[in-house]
Amino acid sequence: MNDIKRIVVVGGSAAGPKAAAKAGRINPNAEITILQKDPELSMASCGYPYYVGGFFDDRNALLATPTGVVRNPQYYLNAKGIEAKVNTEVVAIDREKREVTYKDLQSGATDSISYDKLVLATGAKPRIPQVPGTDLDGITTLQSMKDVDYLRAICDEKKICNAVVIGGGLIGVEACEALNLAGLEITLIELLPQLLPSLDWEMAKLVENHIKSKSTHIITENGVAEFLGENGKLTGVKLQNGVVLDCQLAVIAVGVVPNVKLAEDAGLEIGEWGGIAVDEYMQTSDPSIYAAGDCVESIHLVSGKKVYAPFGDLANLQGRVAGENAASENSVTFPGTIQTGICKVFDFSAGSTGLSETSAKKAGFTDLITAVNASPDKPAFMKGKLLVTKVVADKNSGRILGAQCVGPGDVGRQIAQWSMAIQGKMTVEDIVNADLPYAPPYSLTIDHFIVSAHILQNKMKGRIAGVSALEVKEKVDTGENVFIMDCRSPEEFEAMRLGIGETLIPVGALRKRLADLPEDKDTEIICYCKISMRGYESSLVLKNNGWNNVRVMEGGIMAWPFPREK
Ligand SMILES: Cc1cc2nc3c(=O)[nH]c(=O)nc-3n(C[C@H](O)[C@H](O)[C@H](O)COP(=O)(O)OP(=O)(O)OC[C@H]3O[C@@H](n4cnc5c(N)ncnc54)[C@H](O)[C@@H]3O)c2cc1C
Repeated sequence: MNDIKRIVVVGGSAAGPKAAAKAGRINPNAEITILQKDPELSMASCGYPYYVGGFFDDRNALLATPTGVVRNPQYYLNAKGIEAKVNTEVVAIDREKREVTYKDLQSGATDSISYDKLVLATGAKPRIPQVPGTDLDGITTLQSMKDVDYLRAICDEKKICNAVVIGGGLIGVEACEALNLAGLEITLIELLPQLLPSLDWEMAKLVENHIKSKSTHIITENGVAEFLGENGKLTGVKLQNGVVLDCQLAVIAVGVVPNVKLAEDAGLEIGEWGGIAVDEYMQTSDPSIYAAGDCVESIHLVSGKKVYAPFGDLANLQGRVAGENAASENSVTFPGTIQTGICKVFDFSAGSTGLSETSAKKAGFTDLITAVNASPDKPAFMKGKLLVTKVVADKNSGRILGAQCVGPGDVGRQIAQWSMAIQGKMTVEDIVNADLPYAPPYSLTIDHFIVSAHILQNKMKGRIAGVSALEVKEKVDTGENVFIMDCRSPEEFEAMRLGIGETLIPVGALRKRLADLPEDKDTEIICYCKISMRGYESSLVLKNNGWNNVRVMEGGIMAWPFPREK
């Protein structure tokens, strides 16, 4: 078939074994070896927070096939004919000789192995803040099985009461939930003004509010200045503003950096984000060497720019491509990513795909239009749960650039739909009549996804003048002359309200109460309700009665990120 006889894979978690397995299927005659530094293989790192938090108790489930067989060296040999050496660190690559040198971490012995093709899948390393005290006992990351065992033991022993999680990205937020469920009192610290930076501020704030409702403290715009300890043990975290938080456990989750030392030492090209530079075949600057997973950087398919996207699904997809190409000839490609991600946050999910409004502006998109839709994922009689979606599109072409969705509803399906729409370069007009599966247990008659596109279409055609919660807050804070109208029922108003100077005029009573509205028909009027459907209907009544500056607060109270009066 071809003259590739020996394929060596460095790294044995996600991308590495996927590359090895695919290579073995494509080229059954090749001799394939995985060299893995960690003691385990094929760890489901994405499952770590759920094992720590007690969602399941069998540690082996993190390492097992769907039928429960632990993926150890014996499994790889028997099931796939692949030799896997664990506790084995590759320390050098000799590109001239096409040979790698590795060290047995238990015996200390070194040896070497030659290759026809090499796949690097060395993953990422956690970023550690450069502050005093990081070596104290009680400080950990959530990156390895060792970390997982440490944290799970703490959760099981229940001796520690206070923990600080440093970093509000996906892993920090997941760590926060895991430790909270184990009964620890948690404070999450984030340097940026918001958690989950792939979301726009107001969407992230909805997630933050939900986390806070679970007795978890969140401090934003503050970082760790020092870890404090006594007798080598952590006793507290000193923040940059001088505040000291007492704690016995600190989980550092401030991001990861590509693990590229081996590639760098071998003279392979490194990209602008510090990841190994690869082309669409996952081939590095050396044609005999491929790379995949958290150690590489990718192209963002919307912005066209290079990005670092350390995601488990991408590691597997890239590994598959690298494995196939390494085993035969370059025949399959990985075109890039739109950085689709999702995370569980207690009873909420938070997901995003493509560009946020903030990242679209940074990427140079100047003419943007956005829409916020708050509505349930299913009918109320099927226990529908709320979703809040923000869509970002190019104003002229209507091309969807990104979407974010948070809430207790089925966020995953929404984000998957937006992801395919973005990758298919679809416009708003392509989505407004999308033919999706419908039955009450699964969605509303017109799915939340399509309704979000309808709102965007209405905005683009000038049929609805939206205003974001952020703009409304600014108008309130600066004392602008606006008439704010809550269009819900008195009972709903009594139970929950914003308290921003609004007047309650239920939509059903509006036609009889037009005299309560500003006489000047140019006065700006902002209508809203719980999700702004009734706000929209009220705005139409007002427009028909001559008010010409009527706007609807998008997403209504459900998308209001600021504190409410009630
Ligand atoms: C707690 C947590 C939760 C996550 N949740 C999600 C999620 O929900 N969704 C998602 O998409 N992604 C998630 N991720 C990210 C995902 O796990 C990673 O993107 C994925 O594991 C990357 O796979 P990889 O094979 O490239 O690298 P890694 O999983 O980092 O594996 C690299 C392996 O290479 C080995 N290695 C390194 N250097 C050498 C060397 N010199 N010699 C030999 N071996 C070496 C290491 O021992 C390591 O086992 C999560 C990650 C963590 C830590």
